[in-house]
Amino acid sequence: EKLGVAMVGLGSLSTNQIAPALQKTKRCKLAAIVSGTAAKREKWSKQYDLAPEHIYTYETFDKIAEDETVDIIYVVLPNGMHCEYTVRAAKAGKHVFCEKPMAISSVECRQMIDACEKAERLLGIGYRCQFEPHHRRCIELAESKTFGDIKGITGGFGFKIGDPTQWRLNKKLAGGGPLMDVGIYALQACRYLTGLEPELITATQTKTDPVKFAEVEETLSWTMKMGDVNCSLMTTYAFNGINNFHAYCDNGNFGLDPAFNYSGIKGKSSKGPIEFEQVDHFAAELDHFAECISNGTELRVPGETGLQDLLIMEAIFKAADSGLAIKPESI
Ligand code: NAD
Repeated sequence: EKLGVAMVGLGSLSTNQIAPALQKTKRCKLAAIVSGTAAKREKWSKQYDLAPEHIYTYETFDKIAEDETVDIIYVVLPNGMHCEYTVRAAKAGKHVFCEKPMAISSVECRQMIDACEKAERLLGIGYRCQFEPHHRRCIELAESKTFGDIKGITGGFGFKIGDPTQWRLNKKLAGGGPLMDVGIYALQACRYLTGLEPELITATQTKTDPVKFAEVEETLSWTMKMGDVNCSLMTTYAFNGINNFHAYCDNGNFGLDPAFNYSGIKGKSSKGPIEFEQVDHFAAELDHFAECISNGTELRVPGETGLQDLLIMEAIFKAADSGLAIKPESI
C-alpha cells in the first residue's frame, strides 16, 4: 500500500520536480494539495485526478487532520514558512517531510523537532543528494579511506539570481541569502564526507549590489576546521558555474562537478571517472522516508541534521559579521 503525500506550496519545485517524482515512487502517491491560488488548485486537481475533498487552502489546512488518505505532509514553501506548516502538520497527526533549509533559525528547528516528537510522527528533511549514487560513492571512498584520510575539501554552489522581487531576496521569507538556499549543499557534503562537525569557522562576504541584496548576502566564502580536515567553501547569488566539491586525501583525491544538479552529476577520482546511473533524487528520498514510516527503518536525514546545519549557518553569519573565528553551538 502506497502512502499518501499532501503537497503544501505548489511553486516551481513542487510543479517541476516533486509532482513528477511522485509518479515514479514505489511507496508514495500524491493524495492532496494545499495552495493559496485557485488556478493552481484547479490545474493540479485535474492533472492528478484529485477529488475536491483533498484540495486545501492555507485557511482550511488544519482540516487535513481528518483526511485519512494523507500520511505525509510535504512542506515546499518559502523557508520562513517551514516551521509554521511543519508544526501544524504534526498537530494534524501527519508525518512531515520538509524542504531544505529546514527553517530560518535553529530556534525554529527545535520547535519543529519538538512538535513531531510530541505527535509521535517522523520528521525528514529534503537533502536529496544523500540519496544520489555519485554522492553515495564519494561517501564510500571517504569512509573506506580508499585514498587515505581526507585532509582538505573545497567546494561551493551558487547561481546568478534574477527577479529582484522574489522571496529568496527577502530576509523574512528566506532567512538568508545563497548560503541558506544553495551553499547548504556544500556544507552538507563536508559533513557527510567526513562524518565530522565543524569546530571553528571563519567567513567573509562581498556585496557589489547593495540594492538588490539589501536584505541578504550576495557572495559568501567560509572555512571550516573539521578535525584535521580544512574546508574552504563559497556560495553566491552573483554568478553562475560554481557547483562542486572535491576532497583531497593523503594518497589521491575525488569529487563531483557538477555535484548538486537534479541530474547530470559527474565525478572523478585520481583513479578515473566516477560514473553511475542518474536517478530521480526526489523519488529516492521520498521512498526512503515512506520506508522508514512503514518498516521503522532509521531515517537518513532526520530533523536533527537540519538543525545542526542551521547552527553551523548561524555560526557562519556570525563569523562574517564579526570577522572572528566562531565555534558553532552544538545540538
Ligand atoms: P517557489 O517560489 O517556486 O514556490 C514557493 C511556493 O510558495 C509558491 O507556490 C508560492 O505561491 C507559495 N507561497 C505561499 N505563501 C507565500 C509567500 N508568503 N510568499 C511567497 N510564496 C508563497 O519556490 P521553490 O523554488 O519551489 O522553493 C520552495 C522550497 O523548496 C524552498 O524552501 C526551497 O529552498 C526549496 N527548494 C529545494 C530544492 C531542492 O533541490 N531540494 C530546489 C528548489 C527549492
